Amino acid sequence: MSSNNELEEQANKIRLCTSCPLSCSRTLAVPGEGCSHADVMFIGEAPGSEEDSQGRPFVGAAGKKLDALLLSIDLKRDDIFITNVVKCRPPMNRVPTLDEIKSCFPYLQKQISIVNPKIVCSLGNTALETLTGFRFISRVHGKLLKKSNLLIFPMYHPAATLHNPLLKSTAEIDFLKLKESIKETISKQSFSKHENERIDRFI
Ligand code: URA
Repeated sequence: MSSNNELEEQANKIRLCTSCPLSCSRTLAVPGEGCSHADVMFIGEAPGSEEDSQGRPFVGAAGKKLDALLLSIDLKRDDIFITNVVKCRPPMNRVPTLDEIKSCFPYLQKQISIVNPKIVCSLGNTALETLTGFRFISRVHGKLLKKSNLLIFPMYHPAATLHNPLLKSTAEIDFLKLKESIKETISKQSFSKHENERIDRFI
């Protein structure tokens, strides 16, 4: 099955999911969207009110901010895959509980394994903690971390940058660092692929 179809199959399971109480209060589940073989995958916390009405990730104010940051490093939505730790809106936009995160986690794991991104960008503390177990974004934002076989690039959540000029400029700088990390990661991987082919020819 193509990765596109596999993602759609996951999306359909998510749309019908009733595994946790958030399924009772949601309007629409928000599976995520974008390129099925993206080099970079962005992971936010949970849908907000606009996302809940449309069934699409990052379409409200935080999404507009994210679009501007992506544009600043020449990335478009079509180039990336974007999703959230929790696929249904928590009431009043509260932080998702550990039980909700645990219940939704298999969907995220499956999405990561299908897209197989070179870099995963965590947006905000919930995504950082879910992916790494580390909760202090102020200490690790803008740095490439290795966790198991994933390269994780933690960023502040775009919503946190909306009304805080200091975080806004930090996020802008972090996106420039992300651009460099993407370039380096891709060139390292294609170098080692080329080297492996060269070595293969001599065996
Ligand atoms: N905030 C998130 O973390 N995710 C969204 O999809 C929208 C806002």
